[in-house]
Amino acid sequence: MSVNHQSPDDAREATRDAMVIALDRLREDGSGGLSLDVELSSSFVSEALAKTDARADQAGRLDAHIWLQADGTVLVRGRLHATFAVPCARCLADAMVDAGADLCVTFVPRGEFDAQLARRAGDSDDGVELDADDLDQFPYEGTSVDLSPLIREQIHLAYPMRALCGYGEACRGLCPACGANLNEGPVQDHCPKCHAALGSASAESEEPPPAWKAALEKLRGNN
Ligand SMILES: [Zn+2]
Ligand SMILES: [Zn+2]
Repeated sequence: MSVNHQSPDDAREATRDAMVIALDRLREDGSGGLSLDVELSSSFVSEALAKTDARADQAGRLDAHIWLQADGTVLVRGRLHATFAVPCARCLADAMVDAGADLCVTFVPRGEFDAQLARRAGDSDDGVELDADDLDQFPYEGTSVDLSPLIREQIHLAYPMRALCGYGEACRGLCPACGANLNEGPVQDHCPKCHAALGSASAESEEPPPAWKAALEKLRGNN
């Protein structure tokens, strides 16, 4: 990796800086637009998931094409690639989450954005619904567009309510008695004591049951 010599903080800063696109740069590139290929440092991905139990060890990537239109609108089309790990809902082992997403957003100069909002507020009084395009519009101010808040939000949105490890629905979770990961083999192999306590087929526990079972069956029969 090209960023190995950087501290996590530096790598995060570099990722943020790479996502600030100066409008001058877009003007120079003309109508063909600008191609952007940014490595998203793992520290940047981690920051997007701060305050969650997710862990990001791998760098992601942002592949995008950006155009500046004559009216000052900036179009961004591309794809976000990122993965992170969360604890499996059953066994707490890593469950990998794919935060990959297609991006199709428009940045509108702040003044125009606010004017559109005001118009829309008027429209919705008349019962006009927002269409999906409106939701992918963001305002920008000054002489550059910063993609990093958008990318952070996209990664954060990928945080799942519940995720399962590589075993999927076959994940057997943890032993309720000792916490051993039951995916690692049959219970009797890695926690024989728990197996004896939890299981009913243990040889030593053969004696007492018949007595109380007989008593119980008697009670049931009498009812
Ligand atoms: Zn699991
Ligand atoms: Zn156990």
